[in-house]
Amino acid sequence: MGRALFISDVHLSGNEAGVSRLFFRFLETQAAGASSLYILGDLFDAWAGDDDLDDSFNGKVVSSLRKLADSGVALHIMHGNRDFLMGRRFFEASGAAHLSDPCLVSACGGKMLLTHGDALCTSDTEYQAFRRTVRAEAWQSAFLAQPLAARKEAIAQLRRQSEQMKQEKTGAVMDVDHAAASRLLTENSCTRMIHGHTHKPGKHVFDLDGSACERWVLGDWHDNGALCIACEKDEIRFLDAGE
Ligand code: MN
Repeated sequence: MGRALFISDVHLSGNEAGVSRLFFRFLETQAAGASSLYILGDLFDAWAGDDDLDDSFNGKVVSSLRKLADSGVALHIMHGNRDFLMGRRFFEASGAAHLSDPCLVSACGGKMLLTHGDALCTSDTEYQAFRRTVRAEAWQSAFLAQPLAARKEAIAQLRRQSEQMKQEKTGAVMDVDHAAASRLLTENSCTRMIHGHTHKPGKHVFDLDGSACERWVLGDWHDNGALCIACEKDEIRFLDAGE
């Protein structure tokens, strides 16, 4: 077992040259030297459907992922709240294995719980209702039946609404609920989790029924840097993904 790397919230979009450059370099350097790479959601800032693989930027991302997977790095990708429409065509083309949310993997000599994080923001009841709607198969089939341009416009509109709603919500409402995170660990008999989504990177240590638990939070990627989490042997730590 070599090094496992975890990232999330890269939010790739064709027009963010800085983040894209950083990500492509990360794939060719740090990720290429790892034994596995776990992308825990929101790799893309938006994913309107797998027919958008024909877009040249998306095609470049997928072929870079494919190159990494073909080199022998075990690549795993989880859906986030922005790219949950990545489907079978995307996974086949990229060579990535789909990670369900939440899931358990072996890392750092024990069990590790992985989740994007949005399902744990339970104080935001409005968002959780929206999440249930758009994660239903019937909604997704109906949405994907629309032309690509119409889907992109609908996503842009949802984004504008969500930005507006965010201004009325407090930081606490939009953060992971501690009780929900604890419950998920207990249900899975696990003491350590990694998630993203909140863009509040950090390590939270807490006691749960007498066991020391850890919640590691990945950050989002910026032009000037990004964090990843590295697990090697029994050690876990943050690393600069742009170094
Ligand atoms: Mn997210």
